[in-house]
Amino acid sequence: MERSVTGRFAPSPSGYMHLGNLLAMLLAWLDCRALGGRMIFRMEDLDPVRTRAEYARALAADLKWLGLDWDEGYPDPAYQQANRTDLYANAFRSLERMGLVYPCWCSRAQRLAAASAPHPGEAVHDPGCRCAHMSAAERAARLASDRPPAWKVRVPDETVTVEDGHYGVYTQNLAREGGDFIIRRADGVYAYQLAVSVDDMLMGVTRVVRGRDLLSSAPRQAWLIRLLGGTPPEYCHLPLLTGMEGKLSKRLGSLSTQLIRLDTTAEELTGRLAWLAGLLPAPGPVTPRALIGLFSWDKVPKEDIVVDEKAAGP
Ligand code: GLU
Repeated sequence: MERSVTGRFAPSPSGYMHLGNLLAMLLAWLDCRALGGRMIFRMEDLDPVRTRAEYARALAADLKWLGLDWDEGYPDPAYQQANRTDLYANAFRSLERMGLVYPCWCSRAQRLAAASAPHPGEAVHDPGCRCAHMSAAERAARLASDRPPAWKVRVPDETVTVEDGHYGVYTQNLAREGGDFIIRRADGVYAYQLAVSVDDMLMGVTRVVRGRDLLSSAPRQAWLIRLLGGTPPEYCHLPLLTGMEGKLSKRLGSLSTQLIRLDTTAEELTGRLAWLAGLLPAPGPVTPRALIGLFSWDKVPKEDIVVDEKAAGP
């Protein structure tokens, strides 16, 4: 049976949105609306240390300001990951029952990072650690005496293919290229990879549109969703924004919507983002709604989008 189209915004309120986030939100919205889909807004406030309610409110205000609407989601508490831990716990227990979960006492940094999506250039490959091969007796002894472990899921030597709506066929061998990954941190917080998979599955998301830096996470998410009995969404990744020198300068890369909004109107910004994404021949004021009929992934470049920083922004 054809599933009705459901897209999602899934930002993390760990700061204000910058230009790259806004581009991802605009394309996620256009992709969904062009297909006549339902848009949901999930707040990925999984990590109590790195996220703040103030940023969550600002993200929602920025989307509204830009003219991007949603049909359900934030501020409904059911769409905030912080309130969904029971669902992640259920999934965790299912994986445990399958015998796929083991404790890991390796580096603190690695365990802490796991609640957020990997950043551009951040490896998703875990070369494996000794914890994966401990005897049951050693594991039990350490569980009784050592500090709390993080929890990893053991992936099979299986090749998963994701048909990306923009980048095409993307193949990854889970064990050799991805490796086992953390699904729960030592402090009890469930990891991004588990939460995002559970949420996309339970919320009936059929279209995931987000930055290319998460393409390498798509096979493990599709695998997890199938394992938990769901149907993976279609993934469409978009190119990242970069500066002339290869990387977006700290200034522009971290320029928050708060500052961008001081210097430009919503229509001007939409026009500039649409032009950067290949949807308009030149920047100029436009509403997101007026772009729906123009939207096509064929127009969006595959290579990262170079922003002329001298011409761009305040
Ligand atoms: N919350 C993640 C982020 O802001 C994105 C998750 C996703 O789209 O899968 O980086």
